[in-house]
Amino acid sequence: MGFTSKVKQIIQTGWEKYETVYGKIIRQAEKEAVSKVLGCGDPKNGYAEYWCLECNGAEKKIVPFTCKSRFCPSCGKVYTDNWVEKMVNEMVDVPHRHVVLTIAEELRPYFYWHRDAIDILIKSAAQVLKSIIAEKKKKLKLTPGIIIVVHTFGGDLKFNPHIQALVTEGGLDKNGDWQPVTYFSYQALRRRWQHLVLKNFKQRFGSQQKIKNLINKLYAQKKKGFYVYGKNRIRDSRGAAKYIGRYMARPAIAESRIISWDSEKVEFWYESKETGKKETVVLPIMQFIGRIISHIPEKQFKMVRHYGIYARNQRKESRIAVKLWQVAETLKRRKIHGYKEVAKKKSRKLTYRELMMKEYGRDPCKCPKCGSEMELVKIWHPVYGDIYDLFETGVVEVINSGKKQKSPKNKKEKEKTISKNGTDDNILLFAM
Ligand SMILES: [Zn+2]
Ligand SMILES: [Zn+2]
Repeated sequence: MGFTSKVKQIIQTGWEKYETVYGKIIRQAEKEAVSKVLGCGDPKNGYAEYWCLECNGAEKKIVPFTCKSRFCPSCGKVYTDNWVEKMVNEMVDVPHRHVVLTIAEELRPYFYWHRDAIDILIKSAAQVLKSIIAEKKKKLKLTPGIIIVVHTFGGDLKFNPHIQALVTEGGLDKNGDWQPVTYFSYQALRRRWQHLVLKNFKQRFGSQQKIKNLINKLYAQKKKGFYVYGKNRIRDSRGAAKYIGRYMARPAIAESRIISWDSEKVEFWYESKETGKKETVVLPIMQFIGRIISHIPEKQFKMVRHYGIYARNQRKESRIAVKLWQVAETLKRRKIHGYKEVAKKKSRKLTYRELMMKEYGRDPCKCPKCGSEMELVKIWHPVYGDIYDLFETGVVEVINSGKKQKSPKNKKEKEKTISKNGTDDNILLFAM
């Protein structure tokens, strides 16, 4: 693709040595994600082949499969873009608040060694944010929309689990009306967050005196509660979705933060929360690799959760309710002409072709010589072999059902099969 990320190159350079030295402590999830990334885009792991039939196959193009791992510098970005695209249409069009909830430094090692316990942070955050909205208009039983993402990294790439949340400023009441809430008390939020985290922490880890002492110490030391940041207000759903892309779904380290690297060391910068300045860090390559892979989540662990009206089964209904409320509000204010229905853009995954256009500004399916549409002639998979070959059979073998489609008998039918199977949607299954 002409572009290999620095992160991938750094892992490529140091991984063999890292495995030799740290083999015993590498988690299974780390091993799998790294091997996916290293094999991403390698035709050895499968590819689709396009020919220009106008030029009689003189122009060919191999499009390797990609790994689809979220940890992968290139596939992770595709994942994020898709997520943002989807969320624009799924969020209600009201102001949102971005809230970051942190924990005391002393607690971090417990979550490092017990990854499942990160659940405590997610659930506590959801509960505290729900309660802070609901209590504003108690009788109305408000349900806000909450999206929670766990970040385990700080700017310096050390293990620093914290919560990034996006919360609607308001909620649907028990009658299905939207109730805006513009003010929350940060003092209350901080103390309640601390209390819930420590309560759940105690439940999970608390049989030893050491844990009890730690909890008491943290109550005594942090009288204002754990640090919470929540000043960023976002006007509408589009802005909120963008926010997800820019801050919440970002990888542990952006390519642009890597200043230089070689086989020995990596130099990168980050914005320090303490000093408010750009700080430069130089790490031995082994340590850099160790830090970035430490942020690979356990395999089944969901780093993103949706609550309240954003819970999967409530999203659509809530969106309609909020929309109706907005229309009613607008009518009430007699600004009928000012109301515009937001264009209903259908949410869908970007096709491989669109992504190529977006990323590289070139169309993977146009012949560079004559400009005509190139035809998919082959899909090869390392396990299943040729799963599609235009010249052999002209049919696609359906892997899952094990059933083969019948070979087309005449030319016309063959053409039909090609156009049916040779679309971008088909490639999407493999090439993204
Ligand atoms: Zn990949
Ligand atoms: Zn051509």
